[in-house]
Amino acid sequence: MLAQFEHASILVLGSGTSVGVPMVGCRCKVCTSNDPRDKRLRPSVLLRLGDQRILIDTSPDFRYQALRYSIERLDAILYTHSHADHILGLDDVRPFNFMQKSEIPIYASAETLRVIERTFQYVFDASPSESSRPRLRLHCFETEPICLAGLDFFPIKAFHGKGVVYGFRFGDCAYLTDHSDIPADSRERLAGLDVLFLDALRHNPHPTHSTLEASLKTVELLQPKRAFFTHISHDLLHAAIDARLPAHVHLAYDGLEIPIGRNAVEC
Ligand SMILES: [Zn+2]
Ligand SMILES: [Zn+2]
Ligand SMILES: [Zn+2]
Repeated sequence: MLAQFEHASILVLGSGTSVGVPMVGCRCKVCTSNDPRDKRLRPSVLLRLGDQRILIDTSPDFRYQALRYSIERLDAILYTHSHADHILGLDDVRPFNFMQKSEIPIYASAETLRVIERTFQYVFDASPSESSRPRLRLHCFETEPICLAGLDFFPIKAFHGKGVVYGFRFGDCAYLTDHSDIPADSRERLAGLDVLFLDALRHNPHPTHSTLEASLKTVELLQPKRAFFTHISHDLLHAAIDARLPAHVHLAYDGLEIPIGRNAVEC
């Protein structure tokens, strides 16, 4: 357990790549698999920290994910980067504004905030509107820790092709999606982990994503106690791949909930 929480876990809301799995129109063996672990919504996780709920990214599937996993409150949203599969569900936070009668704080890099403000221009339009719009409080981060639910969240910078992505470390857990390279100083900040989430798109190299093989190397290097791979494409059949991974490494799947704890850094 994280020190001050009765219950702390990471819930996988979506383990799929940007088009989701099944991919529209595809009849491959993964897209037609009956294994529910091969049905992957767009990438996102929810942190359940006591009664606090911290969301990482608002995928285009966020509304369905919130219904499916009975998300009843939202205390903050952290953004990894500005790609469509990570931000497009933002409009669907409105019910949380209604229920909580408050703004939702969102945390992102300056670059990601710029894209969010451009993409969701109507949200930031100061003129009166007859329609409801998400009510947000924007926070920009660089490298300093973000204090949420009484815990420090450390942004961990990585490269996503030519772009930048942020992972987050909280206590001895870290979530790092969409990356092709982790610079040395960030690797140092990922030492001594219990749980590590990494992007593992497929087998074949991709200019902006880690592969299954590259993420296995990262796990070897960083030595987390447990590793979970996410942002998975339709190239990886869950049962076949998961069976071949080392015992402490798994493919994530939608609905997987990982209890976490120990060594939380309180802020
Ligand atoms: Zn992505
Ligand atoms: Zn397919
Ligand atoms: Zn991306």
